[in-house]
Amino acid sequence: MKAMVLNELCGLEENQAPLELTELPDPIPSANEILIRVSACGVCHTELDEIEGRTHPPRLPIVLGHQVVGRIETTGSEANTFRIGDRVGIAWIFSVCGTCKFCLAGNENLCPDFKAAGRDANGGYAQYMKVAEGFAYHIPHFFNDSEAAPLLCAGAIGYRSLRLSGLKDGQNLGLTGFGASGHLVLKMVKHQYPNTKVFVFAKSVKEREFSGKLGAVWSGDIDEDSPEKLDCIIDTTPAWISVVESLKNLEPGGRLVINAIGKEEADKESLQDLDTIPSIYGWKRKSKVLPTYVEKT
Ligand SMILES: [Zn+2]
Ligand SMILES: [Zn+2]
Repeated sequence: MKAMVLNELCGLEENQAPLELTELPDPIPSANEILIRVSACGVCHTELDEIEGRTHPPRLPIVLGHQVVGRIETTGSEANTFRIGDRVGIAWIFSVCGTCKFCLAGNENLCPDFKAAGRDANGGYAQYMKVAEGFAYHIPHFFNDSEAAPLLCAGAIGYRSLRLSGLKDGQNLGLTGFGASGHLVLKMVKHQYPNTKVFVFAKSVKEREFSGKLGAVWSGDIDEDSPEKLDCIIDTTPAWISVVESLKNLEPGGRLVINAIGKEEADKESLQDLDTIPSIYGWKRKSKVLPTYVEKT
């Protein structure tokens, strides 16, 4: 099969084409696995983290890609959930132990034996991919392949963030960063919380304009003040400055949900600007200079 292969880690500033088109043997599914013929695979920021080594694959070469849609080509001898030809999706979780406390609580992503599709096992930037049948998902008929693929990561984590935010209809929501996940969250909010106003913070003017088209009531740069205080903010950026700036725009008691596999190091020093009392309680500092104490004689 043909696959786009990562052979070595690199900085994307030096090498902007780190994947190489390579001929690999077709994968052979083991007893509980299915083999799918890939028809679409989403592109995720986490792949940049893999390529640049922030969450590096344990072995190279590797085929990246964890938002995979395809049709079942063959099934292993004990895999009987799906039929040949069924359309399925594969997401970030490739396999887990299934027995630890995290797995039993439904938090498989925290399992010590967690393996990620496209990092610990070959992923979907290829003609074929195999996975245990328990980690493949039926794709409803109303999505086409390329609509369904980004829902397997960007959409899923966006939905989870929205749930964790505790947003209620009519409350103000902020989105910092407006990439794959942010724009899907905005669509979900328009549908699920029709009385909620969405405020978008993004560096890119293009992304800000796009957010307006999808129904955001306001958009500005990451460090701007929103015109109204926000009850919840979902941060999808890899930067720290958005955390500091978000706290400034939140209502006291509001909630910031960080939706990222990890933050990058580049602007970590912006955390020095975090001023907790105004950020959390909304109390303004009057002066940074303390009054002078004059001793009576
Ligand atoms: Zn992803
Ligand atoms: Zn486990």
